[in-house]
Amino acid sequence: MLGNLGKNLTNTMKKLAGMSIIDKEVVKEVIKDIQRALIQSDVNIKLVLNLSKTIEERALNEEPQKGVTPKEHVIKIVYEELVNLVGEKAQEVEIDKKPYRILFMGLQGSGKTTTISKLTRYLQKKGFNPAIVCTDTWRPAAYEQLRQLTEPMNVPLYGDPENKDALDLARKGLEEFKKRDLVIVDTAGRHKEEKDLLDEMESLSSIVKPDEVILVIDGTIGQQAKEQALAFSKTTNIGSIIITKLDGSAKGGGALSAVAEIGAPIKFIGTGERVDDFEAFDPERFISRLLG
Ligand code: GDP
Repeated sequence: MLGNLGKNLTNTMKKLAGMSIIDKEVVKEVIKDIQRALIQSDVNIKLVLNLSKTIEERALNEEPQKGVTPKEHVIKIVYEELVNLVGEKAQEVEIDKKPYRILFMGLQGSGKTTTISKLTRYLQKKGFNPAIVCTDTWRPAAYEQLRQLTEPMNVPLYGDPENKDALDLARKGLEEFKKRDLVIVDTAGRHKEEKDLLDEMESLSSIVKPDEVILVIDGTIGQQAKEQALAFSKTTNIGSIIITKLDGSAKGGGALSAVAEIGAPIKFIGTGERVDDFEAFDPERFISRLLG
């Protein structure tokens, strides 16, 4: 478990290594290091402070299990508390009815369109036959971008760049694809006013009646992620999160704050621009990256 704790923590962890009882001062030092690492990774400060308090209390008050060294005890607690925030390794998309309806949300630029094609490919490889509905009436090239991404994969796409009524597009698309295993509904990522975008998400949600709403969050945006997630979660029940752009130097701490804010698990991460740069979420790797 977390053998590869971030390099920021290795020194204090070394101090813990030879000890036979839990030393209060060292625990405090470890916690300071964790705080530093998480804040550097863009995790929200309040969240870091709450987390530190819990880790400290548990580390000092819980009796280590027999045969467990103080170091292992502290690492276990740190890990458990962080997993508590990001969620256990989540169930992948579980397609338990037909057609399973997935509604995608996310701001323009978050990587929503790319992620839709990635998830489509992923599910196709698992043997499902997905279809996509484009309801983005704001970005003129949205339909064309989806078409270019999905055509090579032989995934049917419904859309009509002439139709400016997102709700009508959703209804028609769902009608068209009612015999598929699943339908992924793409939505706009921008309106003139944010309120209009959010109102549209609420209306779309009531029409699509999604089995799962997936929110796409750009892993590089830091603290704004929390506000974004909160805004979207007011329009519908967000079921899961996909964090994009974790191939760069971003550590995804902002996204962690978003997850903690709305309580939806991260299911996948995007690790590049290509359609196969997509992985099931691995809490352990994500956490060691945050602490790194
Ligand atoms: P949308 O506006 O939310 O639909 O975003 P797009 O899907 O058009 O993506 C915006 C930009 O981010 C494009 O240049 C994508 O290639 C890029 N992008 C999306 N996901 C990833 C990712 O996981 N890693 C990297 N490096 N780039 C990504």
